[in-house]
Amino acid sequence: MTRIPGPRVGASDFGPARPPSLADAVLRLIWDEERISRAEIARRASLSRSTVSEIVEILLGTGLVVEAGVGDSRGGRRPIVLQFQDGAGAIIGIDMGASHVAVIVTDLRGRILASARTAHAVQTDPTGARALIRRLVDECLAAAWTAARTRLVGVGVAVPSPVDIRHPDRLSPIAMPAWEGRHGLDALLADLGVPVLIDNDANLGALAERWWGAAQGLDHFAFIKIATGIGAGHVIDGRIHRGASGVGGEIGHVAIDPRGETCNCGNRGCLTTFVGAPALAARILALRPVYPQSLLAEGPPTVARLEEAARADDPLALQVVHEVAEHLGVAIAGMLNLLNPAAVILGGRIAGLGEKLIAPLRATALRRTFVPAAAATEIRASTLGSPGIALGAATLVLDAALQDPRLFRPVARARTGG
Ligand SMILES: [Zn+2]
Repeated sequence: MTRIPGPRVGASDFGPARPPSLADAVLRLIWDEERISRAEIARRASLSRSTVSEIVEILLGTGLVVEAGVGDSRGGRRPIVLQFQDGAGAIIGIDMGASHVAVIVTDLRGRILASARTAHAVQTDPTGARALIRRLVDECLAAAWTAARTRLVGVGVAVPSPVDIRHPDRLSPIAMPAWEGRHGLDALLADLGVPVLIDNDANLGALAERWWGAAQGLDHFAFIKIATGIGAGHVIDGRIHRGASGVGGEIGHVAIDPRGETCNCGNRGCLTTFVGAPALAARILALRPVYPQSLLAEGPPTVARLEEAARADDPLALQVVHEVAEHLGVAIAGMLNLLNPAAVILGGRIAGLGEKLIAPLRATALRRTFVPAAAATEIRASTLGSPGIALGAATLVLDAALQDPRLFRPVARARTGG
């Protein structure tokens, strides 16, 4: 099993500030280590054996931790090993895209217990999108396991809009005009009786990469989501960089051509107008007369078909992919010069092409950067695939709960004595 090196993305973003208690620190240590003895906890957390024993008694009462056999002796009696119970709670992760909804249920170690994904015009149909989200949540909860409802820890939601963490109930009216500034998901999911935590989809893609994917152990990296729109989550010194009002990292609206096509943000020639899904569809249609034999010469010009055709070395598809690589490379070069990340992770369907996209992209970025910065940056595709953003949404809740275990309902009961 993968060791998780104590990630702390957005650590200060959730809930009322509260100084971490000793019990929180011990629970986190047991989660990190998965199996650990009381003596080892005392040593690692610099606590007395009696303090550790008291805390462990409380944690055993929550069901989050159990005694699981004996470990190796360091001289003397073999110690009892404590184990974190990954199945003691469930988390819902929702990826609300501009043109799809994906829902997963995970355990407390990011394992996906149930998942569902449906294409939908989310951007233009808030009523239908809310109904779809609710249906997929109920389906996943029914499929995951019967205890999921009673041990549910929380719901994390990724939205294709900047999120100002001071007003997480709001959506950007520019990114999602039909939604009139509100997602309304807290009300939609209120009967579940658990916190609903919201963040931008690219930020949550970055969180998923740091906990479970290609950015494990990295404190400086960027995740770029290439979908209907283009978004980026920047992790700097181990934290998501949000900027002054939550729109930090909106690489999709960096101008590539100041005289280019008009973007939905009202400006011209943004990166999204070159590599967003609608732009790729338009490019496929425009290139059809040039490549009449192409696999894409007929049928819907979707990104899914583009990816399949590129895998088969279809010349039209390869030309579009090379153009994407060129435009992304220009934007990423600017980012490398500004932020010098250790890695840039690319997510979204087209990133599934791997080196076919990334080799030319890397070449473009290298040509346009201050070379020492770029040469040290790894550019690679996400390994988490299509559930990556939903997994990040679930991880938002897991991260919050491990920092404030009152979110784990059994822990709250033990503390209040009720
Ligand atoms: Zn724009």
